[in-house]
Amino acid sequence: MSTTASAAQAVTNNLEAFWMPFTANRQFKQNPRMFVGAKDMHYTTADGRQVLDGTAGLWCCNAGHGRPRIVEAVQKQVAEMDYAPAFQMGHPKAFELAARLSALMPSPLDHVFFTGSGSESVDTALKIALAYQRTIGQGTRTRLIGRERGYHGVGFGGISVGGIVNNRKHFGSLLTGVDHMRHTHDPSRNAFSRGMPESGAEYAEDLIRIAQLHDPSTIAAVIVEPVAGSTGVLIPPKHYLQRLRQICDEHGILLIFDEVITGFGRLGTPFAVDYFDVKPDLVTTAKGLTSGVVPMGAVFCTKTIYDAFMHGPEHVIELFHGYTYSAHPVACAAALGTLDTYEEEGLLTRAAGLAQYWEDGLHSLKDCPHVIDIRNLGLIGAVELEPIAGEPTKRAFSAFLKAYEDGILIRTTGDIIALSPPLIISKDQIDELFGKLRKVLMNTH
Ligand code: PMP
Repeated sequence: MSTTASAAQAVTNNLEAFWMPFTANRQFKQNPRMFVGAKDMHYTTADGRQVLDGTAGLWCCNAGHGRPRIVEAVQKQVAEMDYAPAFQMGHPKAFELAARLSALMPSPLDHVFFTGSGSESVDTALKIALAYQRTIGQGTRTRLIGRERGYHGVGFGGISVGGIVNNRKHFGSLLTGVDHMRHTHDPSRNAFSRGMPESGAEYAEDLIRIAQLHDPSTIAAVIVEPVAGSTGVLIPPKHYLQRLRQICDEHGILLIFDEVITGFGRLGTPFAVDYFDVKPDLVTTAKGLTSGVVPMGAVFCTKTIYDAFMHGPEHVIELFHGYTYSAHPVACAAALGTLDTYEEEGLLTRAAGLAQYWEDGLHSLKDCPHVIDIRNLGLIGAVELEPIAGEPTKRAFSAFLKAYEDGILIRTTGDIIALSPPLIISKDQIDELFGKLRKVLMNTH
């Protein structure tokens, strides 16, 4: 047994102290599932099995696991300089990384603010939006608009604009002045759609309704995931995002794309901004930025927004916001190693060449029992199962457990199986993933 495997064995007797996030702790601790290693497309379990990663960890390990460029960059950076503050001090890798990211993102989204996670990126973007409106003399614009079934992390800003009941209802009154558009998923019209659904762009008109309800002059920003991931892969209808942009322009509302999942090649373009050819005012990212290796997030904003903050006296701090770990040197090194890997291997566009193969494989599961919808875009896919009456989530979770036993890692959200493999996946591995998933679904009751 390897040392990591024997260490895992040792803690199996001591599972109580760790309160696991987004996990049924009591269930897990009766029958723990432990990973002890990861390389390329696979995890190694504590009992020595290989598990094909169908989810890139949590939508983050876009370059796959244990990639040499990233490993070396992190090791070197820890040895050279472990930490440096980013408040009133700098280090070269932070500037190099921001410049490279700025070059990757279409103009005018030219400026980058570093955070430690997707949730921090969301709160940062919301705060920049509010502060910007005030800075340009639009201080009445204090409302934020999100969307039902939106997921924007777990900070108070994120859960307030987010639209998942369970993530909100236990935590008090949340932010005030937040409203929600309806989500765009419409299975009566869009079930088993391939790529972007033809119909549903009219859901964007919700923004007009909400703007009129509160008066547009009170609204600072609207935030959406271009493709909602964590709430079950909701693909935007054709023209929907374009229409949102138009309405925002007409009413002086900032548009924020939460690209924590879609960023860094997931759709076959570097960002969803490229895929949909819609330019928001702010973009939140995390996850794929470092391929999941070190926690890090980044918020992109337009030159107009950045410049608006740069007019006061020179010695005065322009934005009262930041984190101890903003632009952490080890995270910056990991991100630079990740960008090198993406560029050398063409990973930011690789999904474009695989998307059709992925789509065909995914939709071949249509005849499996209890499947009520399948949807996909780029290298994202979802298989929705009919919930068992009175026992929501049970069917998909039992599929998840079987899949793990059969050697594939899938993710479930409600009764939806969500898939988002590392962007290095081969066609053979796509076949393996769907072949095993078919077997799992055939045995899911
Ligand atoms: N926004 C979106 C769209 C996400 O998918 C996630 C994470 N799944 C987050 C924000 C939060 O990111 P983190 O878990 O890194 O805080």
